[in-house]
Amino acid sequence: MLPVVALVGRPNVGKSTLFNALTRSRDALVADLPGVTRDRHYGVCRLGARPFVAVDTGGLSGVDEGLDALTAQQVRLAIGEAQALVFVVDAREGLLPQDRGILDELRRSGKPIVLAVNKTDGLDVQGALAEFSRFGIAATLPLSAAHNRGTDDLVGALLPLLPEDAHEELAEGGDDSIRVAIVGRPNAGKSTLVNRLLGEDRLVVSDVAGTTRDPIRVPLERDGRRYTLIDTAGVRRKARVEEALEKFSVIKTLQSMAAAQVVVVMVDARENLADQDLTLIGHAVDEGRALVIAVNKWDGLDAYQREQCQRALERRLQFVEWAKVVFISALHGSGLRELMRAIVRAHAAATRTLGSADLTRTLEKAYENYQPPLVRGHAPKLRFAHPGGSNPPTIVIHGSRTKHIAPAYRRYLEGFFRQRYKLEGTPIRIEFREGE
Ligand code: GDP
Ligand code: GDP
Repeated sequence: MLPVVALVGRPNVGKSTLFNALTRSRDALVADLPGVTRDRHYGVCRLGARPFVAVDTGGLSGVDEGLDALTAQQVRLAIGEAQALVFVVDAREGLLPQDRGILDELRRSGKPIVLAVNKTDGLDVQGALAEFSRFGIAATLPLSAAHNRGTDDLVGALLPLLPEDAHEELAEGGDDSIRVAIVGRPNAGKSTLVNRLLGEDRLVVSDVAGTTRDPIRVPLERDGRRYTLIDTAGVRRKARVEEALEKFSVIKTLQSMAAAQVVVVMVDARENLADQDLTLIGHAVDEGRALVIAVNKWDGLDAYQREQCQRALERRLQFVEWAKVVFISALHGSGLRELMRAIVRAHAAATRTLGSADLTRTLEKAYENYQPPLVRGHAPKLRFAHPGGSNPPTIVIHGSRTKHIAPAYRRYLEGFFRQRYKLEGTPIRIEFREGE
């Protein structure tokens, strides 16, 4: 299970800049908490040896009134979820009274703290650090989030503070089952689907397990195949009181996506596709997971609505045109056979073994058909390819001037390999290496 790190500090100290540097995310996942003005943002940081979930908490002023009180409440929630805290301060403004107030709050949590003294670019770093040394925090580091300096050291200081991952062996595939995460916005129908798939007795068992911090893994057998459903919101529902407060738990969603091989994103057909659905899909792709999109509540739509919905899907899902879309009714149980088949296929594609000789032949063919545009009179050369991992299938290509290969050409290659190996239902990674 991915550990969680919260970024806290006054408004404007550079928390969201740091968040972006750590997660490099296209879009942050935002918790839907009605009535809260500043939302928490969530993303996965993969800069160090171990990934973790980073939470940008918005602002905390140290004054508990009005809008600030709301923000403070947000921050407290984030601190509650985190295993380690990054306290961000502004080297240019120096140590302000509010910083002290915030630190007191952080210390009360008893969680390990790393102090990031931000905006040290162009400043005397030692002088900047000296002012904040009064806080007496052992891990005090200079940072320039805007210039991406100090982020690696920050991650290096954080990792030893995080709890060990007890489930690593499971994440690596302790058995032969397909690990599936079913994610989606509140009311998409996740629990209804899980209930359908498992039957009521199983759910009672999982309720007991749900009292711990550990992710729940529920075994499922269908048509002679074994699956493990990971930490599905639907499985947890009855066990967790907190979920009443935050029904859509972004952290659990990110954690279960990270532990799964195949992610099923459930969307409500009656709402076409919401931005949050697209963000979820984008995250599954960024994580390299095999992907199936389940359009639920298909039973409730008339012919006209179905056509509207299909059109919206076609338009907005172009960036994952390789992903299978299945139309289901979790309530009535229709489409589930097709859903399971799509999961099995996506898993097979994501874990397929590709051979170096064959990959190189395919690369040569792709290069013959269409060469990358010249860079200052020279064509980038692509010499040979070999596999670099699976789930997602990764293809390493060696050549020269590969730095200059444009995104469009990379996409062309991806499409070529995808077609050749019928890699449907999974993202593909292409990595270029200079030289032999
Ligand atoms: P937040 O309110 O804590 O999330 O702060 P932001 O990330 O929105 O940053 C506030 C302002 O500080 C923005 O104008 C950033 O461009 C600027 N900023 C952030 N990091 C740095 C830094 O490392 N150096 C400098 N000079 N400015 C920064
Ligand atoms: P979750 O928040 O994603 O776990 O969603 P739930 O499983 O709790 O479902 C939310 C609501 O949608 C409930 O009232 C369900 O009965 C309803 N629902 C779920 N699946 C379907 C379906 O396939 N068709 C229809 N018409 N309603 C459904």
